[in-house]
Amino acid sequence: MTARETNAPFIEIRERYRDVVSARWPITVTPQRDELLSSWLHRLAYANGVPGRAFARILGLTPGMWSARLDLKCSITLADQLRQYADITSEQLAAMRMPDGLPKQLFLPLRKLYRRSGSTWLQFCPRCLATDTHPYFRREWRLATRLTCEKHKSRLRDRCTACNQPVAAFDQNELRPHHYCAGCGYDLRHASTIYLCPAVRKLDQCIHEIFGFNLIAGLPIDGLLVRQFLEIPQNTGIHRQGLLTGLSASLRARCYEKLVCRPNEGDVGQWHAHGIGGAPTSQVTKESGVDLLTRMLSDALTPKQGRPAAGDSRSTVDLTHFLTKAQQMNLTPMSPKSRRRDATAIVRCQC
Ligand SMILES: [Zn+2]
Ligand SMILES: [Zn+2]
Repeated sequence: MTARETNAPFIEIRERYRDVVSARWPITVTPQRDELLSSWLHRLAYANGVPGRAFARILGLTPGMWSARLDLKCSITLADQLRQYADITSEQLAAMRMPDGLPKQLFLPLRKLYRRSGSTWLQFCPRCLATDTHPYFRREWRLATRLTCEKHKSRLRDRCTACNQPVAAFDQNELRPHHYCAGCGYDLRHASTIYLCPAVRKLDQCIHEIFGFNLIAGLPIDGLLVRQFLEIPQNTGIHRQGLLTGLSASLRARCYEKLVCRPNEGDVGQWHAHGIGGAPTSQVTKESGVDLLTRMLSDALTPKQGRPAAGDSRSTVDLTHFLTKAQQMNLTPMSPKSRRRDATAIVRCQC
């Protein structure tokens, strides 16, 4: 070896960078209880310093409502990618997607353009977000069968209260947590709370329980009931042609109010089911109770004398008997204290 060769810089071949760093993304995020897949993805992106919109490129997806689409369908390739880089299991991924058994018609639709009176793809409870350690969006907030937050007894919101735009964390260009509006930067945790009357909340709870119970029990969800549920705006005269899934949370609340609030005395029972009443017994199981309530709801939503025209102020569908039965069956759980307070309100709204 010559002197020149001795003084030459020593070059040693070491591991490549990609071989020494972890195959996983720097920060992993643990899914929360009943968290929606898109919500977890937005939190994962933020934790790793990537804005929501840019994260679509990292995942090899086209922009737009990329994460909202994944709530409904996630490819095997993408699931493999997430398992490898985000330290997530197949079971955790499956638990964050929307249940396969639920009729797709009950999901709030994905839209590019939003009308003021129209639905948005996702709802939220500001107080849930405000009290979460890690604010996240729940799976049930993507369903038209959910209108209220049981925990906070308030109506879900579907828009930023500052700019009236829907939640759009998938389109966020800046590095902000997903509970800040992508349009104006408003912190959605500060949105005001809207309280609904107890009768409306109980109707929402019953409907959610009927659909949820059948899903959990693995029972097919009655297509007729789904159609009747979707046509509530027409049967209540709130909207001539619109389906319930196409209406804003505010308008859906008005539909529910029409069903259980301030019924016209002369119309009470007009479309009620007959021959399925009778005093409930303590032997009524929850399963048979849900079955009976499903039939009662279906019968009550079936117009017997034609549909009212849009704007017709008559209350032609009345669900007070349905709610009474639900309370008798204890299918609308309440604390003993609130049970006393709501004993009359459940039959008829007092507001
Ligand atoms: Zn809440
Ligand atoms: Zn906003």
